[in-house]
Amino acid sequence: MTRRRQHWRIIAGLTGLLVVVMIWVVADGGRLRAIKQVTGLPDIVESTALALVPTAANDPTATQDLVVPETLYAQTAPNYQPRQEIVLADPSNYGDRYSTDANGRPVNNEFIAVLHETVGSAQSALNLFRTYHPNDADQVSYHTLIGRDGTVYYIVPPEKRAYGAGNSVFDGPNGPESVLTNRAFPPSVNNFAYHISFETPSDGRGNSRTHSGYTQAQYESAAWLLSRSSIPDNRITTHQRVDRSGSRLDPRSFDFNRFFTLLHRYPSRAGL
Ligand SMILES: [Zn+2]
Repeated sequence: MTRRRQHWRIIAGLTGLLVVVMIWVVADGGRLRAIKQVTGLPDIVESTALALVPTAANDPTATQDLVVPETLYAQTAPNYQPRQEIVLADPSNYGDRYSTDANGRPVNNEFIAVLHETVGSAQSALNLFRTYHPNDADQVSYHTLIGRDGTVYYIVPPEKRAYGAGNSVFDGPNGPESVLTNRAFPPSVNNFAYHISFETPSDGRGNSRTHSGYTQAQYESAAWLLSRSSIPDNRITTHQRVDRSGSRLDPRSFDFNRFFTLLHRYPSRAGL
């Protein structure tokens, strides 16, 4: 082998090594950044509870005082712990919560929880949210999804605005509430909503008005999740109730009595 060829081999080898190191750094950096959005606080559950507290969405410092102390939870809450998984959506499918609307007026709605169903499988919904969607009309997400086995999938960080409802208004104790954040679309509840979706049973994949309903584990997990928030009962609603497009019926066959019975076992819900 000539000296010249040896040189080229060394240069090619070093270049290859550099490429491998660069790919590793870029890939790992991306992963860390994504997860950090959720786990800035000690763990995902605490961060969910903190950001779920119904205070002004634009005043994150105000939430701390209202959170139920973790020690009280441990002593008194029902003994239920769902499996939890972080499956973050592609950032194209969610945005920031705004402190002013599209007309520059300050908005300070308290949080609502909006219940949905996936219609398809949990896995197909998760795949959809993880897909990059450059066009506004395709962008969609929930904050959490509850699988048939009760697994809670965290998809969008609670402090972010998930795109769970289009044209929508919450008719609550304070009158009609919705926020215009994009002039190209009707106002919606997304700016102050925490979206939770149930995986639909296999007999509900079509568009019939009812199906066989949700599992006990799904009701338990939904109650567990909302027990960690201070969203009052009268601000827990459904996509069907807030929808103004006339096309949404979800979550079909949801039993509110069954859900509230489970939720009210949590001492943290007293007075809510
Ligand atoms: Zn929905």
